[in-house]
Amino acid sequence: MSRVGFTTTIPVEIILAAGKTPVDLNNVFITDQDPMRMAESAEDEGLPRNLCAWIKGIYAAVKQADIDEVIAVTQGDCSNSHALAELFINDGIKVHSFSYPFEKEHRYETLKSEMERFAKSIGTTLQKGIEYSAKTDSVRGKLRRLDTLTTEGRVTGFENHLWLVTSTDFNTDLKKYEKELDAFLKEAEKRVPDTNGLKIGFIGVPTIFSDIYQFIESKGAKVIFNEIQRQFAIPSDDPDYVKRYAEYTYPYDVFGRVADIREQKDIRKLDGIIHYVQSFCYRQMQDIIIRKEIDCPMLTIEGDAPSGIDARTKIRIESFLEMLEAKKK
Ligand code: SF4
Repeated sequence: MSRVGFTTTIPVEIILAAGKTPVDLNNVFITDQDPMRMAESAEDEGLPRNLCAWIKGIYAAVKQADIDEVIAVTQGDCSNSHALAELFINDGIKVHSFSYPFEKEHRYETLKSEMERFAKSIGTTLQKGIEYSAKTDSVRGKLRRLDTLTTEGRVTGFENHLWLVTSTDFNTDLKKYEKELDAFLKEAEKRVPDTNGLKIGFIGVPTIFSDIYQFIESKGAKVIFNEIQRQFAIPSDDPDYVKRYAEYTYPYDVFGRVADIREQKDIRKLDGIIHYVQSFCYRQMQDIIIRKEIDCPMLTIEGDAPSGIDARTKIRIESFLEMLEAKKK
């Protein structure tokens, strides 16, 4: 079965309908035993040091994960995707593109026709992708349940992060993923809810720090909202398949994200928000708008290479949590 790597969340049901195996290259990178080595190997091949580590990791992942074809998201993901696609083409790898429309006007129609074009390129039709979504719908429903259990204090922030982020390719095996998710939910439903401590929301691209959830929880706070990971799991249950991806906030302008964060902040009664930004990422600029538009105490932290949290960031998180505690009292 052809293995199709991709650089960010795409309508995965279309790949599955084409009888191919989806592989999220970000997950290959970050779940590797030594992601730092992968980033360094990309540098050894000539990628610049001052390039986002995720891009270096994706580049190395394609070489390491036995990938036959790549989908480059050329609009709606990363400003580096074009050059990355060019590198793959130059290496003789077949590249398909997918582009989320930037304009709000006619978003639905433009997205639908892009899905049709993309489906044809990969060897199927949009209709077959929509039919395949009958199989993924139940998994997405279970992921929504998992997210609710997180808010209730039965699932930790890290578990939430892991399940949602790996839903982009269902860990490359939908059946196995659903079976493991069923077992996890069965166990989590029985847990005694732990609602003590500060309620923290994590926004921004998934963090590259390996131990940040554990660190926050060791300070008595709980992450009960993972903004982008939740979006990666496609939270909309609209019966219209195309509309779900039109409502998915990550690839469009920041204002959709702001509205989503505001809504979830109120629903989950967050005490504070940590905005994670990645070094050398253009999305860092959006921090200005997010801070201006969201009325909630917020700490912005920056990560670079895959590793544990540095001492300075630890101190900043500790001070932020202490400030929130004092405010609450
Ligand atoms: S973190 Fe930013 S720069 Fe890095 S891959 Fe994601 S969008 Fe691109």
